[in-house]
Amino acid sequence: MPNYVVSVGMEVHAELATASKMFCRCPVAFGGEPNTRTCPVCLGLPGTLPVPNQKAVELVLKTALALNCTIAMHSIFHRKNYFYPDLPKGYQVSQYGDTNPLGYNGYLDLPSGKRVHIRRVHLEEDTGKLMHLPAGGSGVDYNRAGTPLMEIVTDFPPDIESPEDAREYLVALRQILLYLGVCDGKMEEGSLRCEPNISVRPEGSETYGTKSELKNLNSFRAVQLGVATEKVRQTALLEAGERVLQETRGWNDVKETSFPMRVKESENDYRYFPDPDLVPMVFEEPYIQSLRDVQPELPLAKTRRYRESLGLSEYDAGVLTADPQWADWFDEALSLGGEPKAVCNWMNADFAKLLNEKGLSARASKVTPAALVELTKLVEGGTINGKTAKAIFAEAFETGKAPGAIVKEQGATQISDRGPIEEAVRAVLLENPDVVAKYKGGNVGVKGFLVGQAMRKTGGRANPGLVQTVVQEELDKP
Ligand SMILES: [Zn+2]
Repeated sequence: MPNYVVSVGMEVHAELATASKMFCRCPVAFGGEPNTRTCPVCLGLPGTLPVPNQKAVELVLKTALALNCTIAMHSIFHRKNYFYPDLPKGYQVSQYGDTNPLGYNGYLDLPSGKRVHIRRVHLEEDTGKLMHLPAGGSGVDYNRAGTPLMEIVTDFPPDIESPEDAREYLVALRQILLYLGVCDGKMEEGSLRCEPNISVRPEGSETYGTKSELKNLNSFRAVQLGVATEKVRQTALLEAGERVLQETRGWNDVKETSFPMRVKESENDYRYFPDPDLVPMVFEEPYIQSLRDVQPELPLAKTRRYRESLGLSEYDAGVLTADPQWADWFDEALSLGGEPKAVCNWMNADFAKLLNEKGLSARASKVTPAALVELTKLVEGGTINGKTAKAIFAEAFETGKAPGAIVKEQGATQISDRGPIEEAVRAVLLENPDVVAKYKGGNVGVKGFLVGQAMRKTGGRANPGLVQTVVQEELDKP
């Protein structure tokens, strides 16, 4: 039996973060009573004319530039014809062709170093939603119909060759969309949807196998798992001498299996033709350049800068850049004079933990970048020790007070004078003659206990290094 390898093409649909729909003024929002966000245009009533949403075009161009695409300076909309109840007009406005989509021939570099080539980035409109009613029967909700939708398709031959690649690609792509602010990236709400095309072939074979397409994947895990199970299913078919059908398959998230939905239409079934109601889009270089000029620092470049210029570890840089708001908060703390490693440690440990517990984002919390920088300076300058700092941070998180003010209020300043520390250490030794005897008998490990007791006597405020020194001195006395 030959060894089988898997190849994956990815189609990703992203709902664009616009206020209104693609060709009318209906608001775009998740949820809401069915059919309350519709008008004659998005319902496709006779006599209406669509007007393209300029913001949506701009968001697709920004994405295409970030994905290193060639921009189509002249681009048109097509009608993709098919009948389905969730499609009120009987066609979907989309973009057809190799060099007509707003962006084409691009690539995305993954953190692993792999380059995934992008065939096209185009603009279309979303469909409505069929709803199976609890009392039986089905209804259709057109609130989503006409929402601006961007489709990003990887190139052929496929660069993605494993379930892990598929996941990594989607993670990296979603991150870029979040950095650009073009999509909210909420997979669970369907604003980012991924449909992998999966095929297997014997290792070394030049010919690609028949592909199946998986639908309804709404998490990174589902994408990785979907590709893995499809590889197993197709390999088993080929090994049994059967053939793989070109079909669209659904994904059952609970059972973690795929099931057949329909045999896939081929492109000419859609009878694409230019939409006569929509004028061509023509762009000029200065406009495209103005979009390039406002491109934010993208995740891969940011991660590289954090590692190379700031000296952070791969792990730390990865955690900081995973979410653009989190990275932005970090950048702001640095611009206020924060020391990178110190700020990073607080963010990825205590701050992240408290935010998780409260279900808050950094910006929604009471801690500002300035407050965190102030706290790190208090530790760095020796005003408070690390243990006290943790308590002060928790207090600042709760109340929003400035760390310096809390230190004053609680009299939490670190004790660095020898006098009171010596006093505390001597008292601890007197109270624990048995422990001292153990130490003198050669059990040096008990020293930690004595240091801990002395710290407690000072309310945790003593300079820990100085306590260590003094305990050693006292124990060394004959
Ligand atoms: Zn409308």
